[in-house]
Amino acid sequence: MNTRHSKIPHITRTTWLLPLLLIASCASVEQSNGGSGFVIANARVFDGTRTLDGYHVVIRDRLIAEISDSSELPGGLEIIDASGMTLLPGLIDTHTHTSSVSQLQTALRFGVTTILDQMTWPGYFPVLKTAAETRDDVADFLSTDMLATPPGGHGTEYDIVIPTVDGPQQADAFVAERVANGADYQKIVLNGLRAMNGMPTMSAATTRALVEAAHKRNLKVVAHIETPDDVRTVIEAGADGLAHIWRTSGAEPELSRLLAQKGMFVTATLSVPDGFVIGSARALIAKDPAVTPYLDDEMIANLTASNENQNLENLDQYLDAVRGLHEAGVMLVAGTDPPNAGVMHGISMHRELELLVQAGLSPSQALSAATANAADAFALADRGRIAVGLLADLVLIDGDPTHDISDSRRIARIWRNGVEFDRSLPASLAAIADGDHRSEASRARNQYRHPLETLEFIGIESDMTVVEISPGGGGWYTEILAPYLKDNGKLYAASYDPDSEIMYFRSNAEKFDDKLAADPNSYSKIEVTIFDPPLLLDIAPPGSADLVLTFRNVHNWMREGVAREAFSGMYSALKSGGILGVVEHRADPEKEQDPEAVSGYVRQDYVIELAESAGFEFVESSEINANAKDSRNHPQGVWTLPPTFRLKEIDREKYLAIGESDRMTLKFRKPD
Ligand SMILES: [Zn+2]
Repeated sequence: MNTRHSKIPHITRTTWLLPLLLIASCASVEQSNGGSGFVIANARVFDGTRTLDGYHVVIRDRLIAEISDSSELPGGLEIIDASGMTLLPGLIDTHTHTSSVSQLQTALRFGVTTILDQMTWPGYFPVLKTAAETRDDVADFLSTDMLATPPGGHGTEYDIVIPTVDGPQQADAFVAERVANGADYQKIVLNGLRAMNGMPTMSAATTRALVEAAHKRNLKVVAHIETPDDVRTVIEAGADGLAHIWRTSGAEPELSRLLAQKGMFVTATLSVPDGFVIGSARALIAKDPAVTPYLDDEMIANLTASNENQNLENLDQYLDAVRGLHEAGVMLVAGTDPPNAGVMHGISMHRELELLVQAGLSPSQALSAATANAADAFALADRGRIAVGLLADLVLIDGDPTHDISDSRRIARIWRNGVEFDRSLPASLAAIADGDHRSEASRARNQYRHPLETLEFIGIESDMTVVEISPGGGGWYTEILAPYLKDNGKLYAASYDPDSEIMYFRSNAEKFDDKLAADPNSYSKIEVTIFDPPLLLDIAPPGSADLVLTFRNVHNWMREGVAREAFSGMYSALKSGGILGVVEHRADPEKEQDPEAVSGYVRQDYVIELAESAGFEFVESSEINANAKDSRNHPQGVWTLPPTFRLKEIDREKYLAIGESDRMTLKFRKPD
């Protein structure tokens, strides 16, 4: 199990004649496989271990088809001139904790084409795996599924329940379950340092039994360790590698020699202690103009913010440990370990490369740690190198990271499976709210409806499953929600019944459908369902939604006498812990509530009671959509005000000056 792969990749030095003949004779096959390929020409090619100057790499059918230094370029293929640039194999991050498809996309944005997850949250594994297998615009995802830890051991202290291994007799069944779930390798946990504070840790016997159970099923075993004693235990058990370096001391020459002798690899995850260094140079990355266009505000904050856990003067101890391993000849592999403090998918890999160089690796050796070594450590024969027949996971760098490692951040282009990835950041809510796909009239209402602040208060994320209740004919909020969720999330538009007996419902259902059909770029991913309480409440698969949003509908349900059913329907669509966001015209709390809400105004306590009686917990309210100018007392109720102006020209200026109604903005949660 510990064989180090040291294959030299096959480099063809033939002329281009043969491949050209093949292209000509297989044109139809090429087309059915999705394109005829392209050439990255005149590149400095770092193939995973060596640098080859002035080479051409041909990509065809998602694979690397040819590598050559011929002076002739193949005809008939798109040529990408990479003079002065460096082509790298896609980077492999061997230590992450991944909990969303967006993170897979963020990783790819920084050239990480493969993520080796070392435990995700229960239930996320199949979602992430499916996304990685069906999409080329996210990083590939491999995982241990669940790490192996004893009851109460490291991994169990978080807010989730995970399976544990209570003694060697449970090891085989535990690993068998991981394999049944599709695990790609097995991570085991020895928390010797935490054990000093009383946390249980895995025994040597259980460690051995787990390694045996995993190796029997052809899984590699990587160990979370904290102390040199932990390392000795996993070496004796026959594990394949370490997921971290020890945290109790610097260089350990004896241990390092032993690891080298056994052919074990070590993922250094220097990024983790770097997150605790006061004034780490990590913050400078956020100012690198090669990087800033691809960082969102949250990432910039995470790179630059100090946190209360920062207590390290420097990284010396950790750098010494890694230097010792390197000098002993241990194979080092790159891994970052998000979401530790200051550690993020994608960008942190470039910091890790920099830290590996500080620990004494040459820039090329650091790049090997993130490519060929990572692939070898986890027996991934189809990637990690630029070699014929391997996946065309490639990163083109505008610079020479084999000379200056910080050049790895100067990414010009990225391909996963031979498909180029568009690096641009997804549009922010603010940009979408002001987007060209919206009419001027729609955008003009942002000043009253505060969509950005409202959605942020409710807690929307771009990878959520969201239900919008009754978008109406115009879909004012749909214009914002749909583009925001289209890549990594899911929007159900719970529209009117197109077969309703009520003409208004029928015509608005049709108007809404027409709107969606007219702009497929914004709306083609929406799933339209029907919300017509009390009878039609199948707005999304039960228990599937992260978020249900209803804007100014409660008074309508009250008028029809279906408010309780409406809240129950929203409740069933949500998963446990899911959030309901409600915006509604707010009535005077001093006045008695008309149960039919004919003025269109509803008391805030009345809405809270409706939601609570459906089972929701009230979380909090916001005054984002309050309007102190609204007396809530108008001849035609709330419809006197804009945008309806039911009195037409009468006192129009007065009502325009008031603006849209005073509104409550409420957040509820479906309990676990
Ligand atoms: Zn970890």
